[in-house]
Amino acid sequence: MSRDYNYKKMINSTAWRKIRRRKLEQSPLCEICKQNGVITAATEVHHVMPCETAKTVTDMRRLMFDMDNLQSLCHNCHSLIHTEMKSHSRVKVKENANRSLSRFKERFIL
Ligand SMILES: [Zn+2]
Ligand SMILES: [Zn+2]
Repeated sequence: MSRDYNYKKMINSTAWRKIRRRKLEQSPLCEICKQNGVITAATEVHHVMPCETAKTVTDMRRLMFDMDNLQSLCHNCHSLIHTEMKSHSRVKVKENANRSLSRFKERFIL
């Protein structure tokens, strides 16, 4: 059973639909728009810590159903946050690579 299989099973479960609805009831406005002073109805629920980062099914279930890990978002902010998350991880990889390169230089060139 792959992680993807478990993710799909959880995202299609009644339990997820319930917690998703509860989250949207508790916080019906897009949380990112609200921070920017814009009132937009939230239509999607985002996992702050992505479920895909979980190493075990238990961890994934914990991230998936943790109310504190959920954020109400509008469709625009949700797609934006996922695009940003992708580019951020790429920046981090690059940063780490640069850091070890300069450490190498300090040790061997200077
Ligand atoms: Zn928004
Ligand atoms: Zn999301």
